[in-house]
Amino acid sequence: MNVKETLTILSEECAEVIQANSKLIRFGPYDEDNVAELEQELGDVMAMLLILDYYGYISLENVKEHVEPKLKKLKKYSKIKNLNKIIKNL
Ligand SMILES: [Mg+2]
Repeated sequence: MNVKETLTILSEECAEVIQANSKLIRFGPYDEDNVAELEQELGDVMAMLLILDYYGYISLENVKEHVEPKLKKLKKYSKIKNLNKIIKNL
């Protein structure tokens, strides 16, 4: 794996997630085409994570360890509902 190339593409894909997310914020969060665009870009990021994990550069297991603490933080500092149910389903 060319680490520099892979990390560059990861950066690009993260930027595309930001762009797709901004469109939803700007034009409304329920526009089906824009939701589909966000899903595609999130999938692109996931693909890059899988590549980095496959080559042992990162560990998806380590990445997953950060999910529950983040959800717990959101429970404390956000108004997002049903976080307990999401945590329970991990
Ligand atoms: Mg993309």
